[in-house]
Amino acid sequence: APGLPAADFLAVESLLSSRERLKLAEVREFLEREVLPHAAGWWNREEFPHRLLGPLGELGISTPTRHGYSHLFHGLAIAELARADASLATFFMIHHDLFVESLHDFGTDRQRALYLEDAAALRTTGAFALTEPEHGSDVARGMETTARRDGGEWVLNGRKRWIGNGTFCDHLLLWARDAETSAVRGFILDTTLPGFTATRIENKIALRTVQNADIELRDVRVSELDRFPGIDSFADTNRLLRSSRIMVGWVGVGQQLAAFDVARAHALERKQFGRPLASFQLVQQQLAQMLGNATASLALMAQLASLQDGGREDMPQAALAKAFTSARMRETVAMGRAMLGGNGILTDRRMAKIFADAEAIYTYEGTYEINSLIVGRAVTGISAFS
Ligand code: FAD
Repeated sequence: APGLPAADFLAVESLLSSRERLKLAEVREFLEREVLPHAAGWWNREEFPHRLLGPLGELGISTPTRHGYSHLFHGLAIAELARADASLATFFMIHHDLFVESLHDFGTDRQRALYLEDAAALRTTGAFALTEPEHGSDVARGMETTARRDGGEWVLNGRKRWIGNGTFCDHLLLWARDAETSAVRGFILDTTLPGFTATRIENKIALRTVQNADIELRDVRVSELDRFPGIDSFADTNRLLRSSRIMVGWVGVGQQLAAFDVARAHALERKQFGRPLASFQLVQQQLAQMLGNATASLALMAQLASLQDGGREDMPQAALAKAFTSARMRETVAMGRAMLGGNGILTDRRMAKIFADAEAIYTYEGTYEINSLIVGRAVTGISAFS
């Protein structure tokens, strides 16, 4: 409602440059117009809004981070995407933070010249294929997909699971183990290559707009020129996961802001016992707790963004951010869902979608438990999981 304080209670947005603030307002306006009115429909129909790609590309936020914007800007933009629709934020993060940024950081000049411009403008889309049917949390140890060198080519065999954007993307950053040396290899894979199949995973209760795929590779032949030469161990994969984990922290922020937005509006509008819900002390306490969770998450992420600007962030910090914000998110969205009463379980309304989407966010990009154990290892010096 007009006159009420913003959900960004500590004014984190004021840390942006004026150019970034204007851009963020443009992103917000785009999302309010093009996404919010349609997101529940896409979600219910498990339909990806391909027509949004052009306009989203024109916003100019999918170029590699270092080209002009701070990490705080990029994080707040992801949070705004998630506030409008966590599925859209997830699509974007996979495409941008895992594919475009990897290409920018690890690609050769030739690979960048061939793929980067179109991907940054969203004329083409990318995905990141790491998880396998038998190896999720332990994929670093157990990866079974193999790459066998054959002259100037590699022959890929194996299966991947849960690959977001996998049903329609033009390229995948695909991870495989060198059949000869066991080193980890990364490839840019054209999804039209013979031997590549992707099957959509159906019946999800969360992020239903994201198109996740089961992928099968049968003797897929890739040129040596499409291998990332700078990747030869899981430590390189982890460098990428460190920044994408941070981005998932921002998705957790956006989800909480969305839950707070919807819950506060509902509490002001809905009357019971002749008074607005917002006039009851218990409801005010719940709104304060939701806002506290969102604000703590946002402040943590803002500080991490400033470490990133100086190149000083590390994996335990990223893991803490992901684990903490996703746990707070789960609490916040559950309170918001309850505050809507019966209307909080309807999938054609915003809140039920926010509530359900939280479950996937809690699990992907390293589960809550695995990220907690990464922090646990850092603070004790003892690895509890490997
Ligand atoms: P498991 O690893 O089988 O874990 C099951 C449970 O056991 C979890 O609670 C976990 O925390 C717990 N557990 C496992 N090991 C331990 C341990 N040592 N100690 C304590 N607890 C443990 N992957 C990609 O590569 N690309 C993508 O684009 C992608 N997108 C995704 C999108 C969605 C919507 C989802 C749901 C997943 C996506 N994933 C993607 C995969 C995701 O990263 C995995 O689901 C995640 O890593 C967990 O793996 P798993 O599902 O196999 O669960």
